[in-house]
Amino acid sequence: MSDLRNCAKCGRLFGYTGSPFCSFCIEEEEDKYKVVRDYLYDNPGSSVVDVSEATGVPTELIMKFLREERLQLSSDNANMLLECETCGKPIVSGRFCQNCKDNLKKALRKEFGLDKPAAPPQDDFKTRPDKERMYTASRRKNDE
Ligand SMILES: [Zn+2]
Ligand SMILES: [Zn+2]
Repeated sequence: MSDLRNCAKCGRLFGYTGSPFCSFCIEEEEDKYKVVRDYLYDNPGSSVVDVSEATGVPTELIMKFLREERLQLSSDNANMLLECETCGKPIVSGRFCQNCKDNLKKALRKEFGLDKPAAPPQDDFKTRPDKERMYTASRRKNDE
């Protein structure tokens, strides 16, 4: 029951699995993510431009990883790069600020009657003065 589609990136025909990209493009992107993540692991606090220059991975792709919360900006100057899609507040990763995320969660909890205490906010990077510093969102573990 393979649904054939054209890859949104390279145009190759592939068996659709829920992603608009073929396995080659996904693998390619995954490799680049690993390169970026490893670079950040060894050089924590690098800027997007630094990382892009050092790894050859385009800044747009690094931004995409940030949007997907696979990487995280450490700086409160992240407003140069990422904004909350709801209120426009500067954010370090993902699409929404903590406030809007909390509001969304609260709304959902109300809807489903789940009222659990929220996780403490992650603002331990905020004291760093430098711009656009990034860290890997997760420590490397399943790495060979
Ligand atoms: Zn492709
Ligand atoms: Zn917001």
